[in-house]
Amino acid sequence: MISKKHWSPGSDVSVQGVKRRDSGGWLVFGVLAPRGICPDCGLHSRRRHGWRQKRLQDLPAHGDKVTIALWVCRWRCPASTCPQRTFSDYTSSIARPFARRTSRADDIVGHLGHATGGRPAERLLRRLGVGVSDDTVLRHLKQRAESAAPPPTVIGIDDWSWRKSPT
Ligand SMILES: [Zn+2]
Repeated sequence: MISKKHWSPGSDVSVQGVKRRDSGGWLVFGVLAPRGICPDCGLHSRRRHGWRQKRLQDLPAHGDKVTIALWVCRWRCPASTCPQRTFSDYTSSIARPFARRTSRADDIVGHLGHATGGRPAERLLRRLGVGVSDDTVLRHLKQRAESAAPPPTVIGIDDWSWRKSPT
């Protein structure tokens, strides 16, 4: 028997329930621990604005797709002069901003894409229960490469000549 804790994608996500989907796969209902720290001014808020649900694809279980239905708290900033009137808690502990997969699922996509390439990675990931297209795999690899490598500061040009040398 797998406990709810084992379905959690991170330590600050408490799992409320797990449901088998009619279309196949698992739906995990989780709540992100509320923090309420404004990303703009850094003040701590106690004024809750509401909740929003974010869906993230997670690592597969039993060869089936796992989707996390994560409830994230939305807050009102207490500072009247702050340009950020409302804000959501960060999900950075489990996923990048605007990501559709958890970081650990992203890592699997990145590693398989790096090792095998776009289409083979797509086929392997589909068999594992992570349905992503080859375009997604390649886009993910590009993003990783761009974020890992610093921009060039010096550009070197190889020596070459217009004519063959007499030697
Ligand atoms: Zn603020």
